[in-house]
Amino acid sequence: MTVLVVAEHDHKILSDAGRRAVAAATALGGDVRVLVAGHHCGAVAEAAARLRGVTQVLLCDDPLYAHQLAEPLAVLIAALAADHQAVVAAATSHGKDVMPRVAGLLDVGQVSDITAIESPTVFQRPIYAGNVMARVCCEEPIRVLTIRTTAFAPAPEDGQAEITAIAAGPDPGLSRFVEDAMTRSERPKLGAARVVISGGRGVGSAEGFELLEAVADELGAAIGASRAAVDAGFVPNDYQVGQTGKIVAPELYIAVGISGAIQHWAGMKDSKVVVAINKDEECPMVQTADYALVGDLFEILPSLRDGLRQM
Ligand code: FAD
Repeated sequence: MTVLVVAEHDHKILSDAGRRAVAAATALGGDVRVLVAGHHCGAVAEAAARLRGVTQVLLCDDPLYAHQLAEPLAVLIAALAADHQAVVAAATSHGKDVMPRVAGLLDVGQVSDITAIESPTVFQRPIYAGNVMARVCCEEPIRVLTIRTTAFAPAPEDGQAEITAIAAGPDPGLSRFVEDAMTRSERPKLGAARVVISGGRGVGSAEGFELLEAVADELGAAIGASRAAVDAGFVPNDYQVGQTGKIVAPELYIAVGISGAIQHWAGMKDSKVVVAINKDEECPMVQTADYALVGDLFEILPSLRDGLRQM
């Protein structure tokens, strides 16, 4: 069995999600090849070659992949997939953009958001917002898989695979790069942070989120949000945690003014310790959290910040 992993990167650094996808691919067994498609991305290929279990890195360095557009990437991956029994990527925004196109081009069904690999053909994945774990058997000739990154540890760096340069695929001409509109932040990335503090509708406004930022500064935390807070425009939508947002599993998750709807839980239920700050002691978040501070968040957050500053 030969598995192709699609590396996610910014042309300089191999992402944490990419390292986790490699770990998942090694659990499938067999040879693991990593595709690094980008522009001036040699350092990423070198990093991928050091990951445990990787037998070969395919480096496709071409301006066509400078902006990681899903359409040309999918054409390249689908062509390479013919020599593999499985193609694996992380279930990140990037993986969710590229992999269904690959599955479509190969005319196979995709298994998404895998949390456990039982065998090369049997996988576990959450359904109904994480309330049910499904066991899925996939017998497609080429299995197109995305993995939930929080379920796999990153592959360690103790390998030394060969790097092989490959030619770019054709440009299907379906899309063009216009601009990057990224939220720039010095904070840890939401998906990889050890501590996350998220705000909900109860925070009330964008200004209210400044109280969360002050606590986050003391804890070195990432900021997240409920969908209600995002829909109200308090924060950008890449802050959203939940079923239709980011999946996080930090050591500490602090939910501020969030009621704990099932769709929010779906995105943070694997957090090690959950703390709720809410004025409603009956709400699901308070009822299910490990610890709860019941009261007005506008009083609790400033005193939490002051207490942390004195530590
Ligand atoms: P609310 O439910 O309105 O809760 C606000 C909380 O703030 C309350 O508990 C209240 O007691 C508390 N509060 C108010 N004022 C204060 C104060 N001064 N001090 C302390 N506490 C206070 N939601 C997500 O979050 N992520 C998703 O990915 C997501 N995906 C969805 C997908 C689908 C298909 C659907 C149908 C819904 C989805 N939702 C998602 C929405 C979800 O159902 C809830 O509507 C949403 O999570 C509620 O957000 P909230 O807890 O911030 O708001």
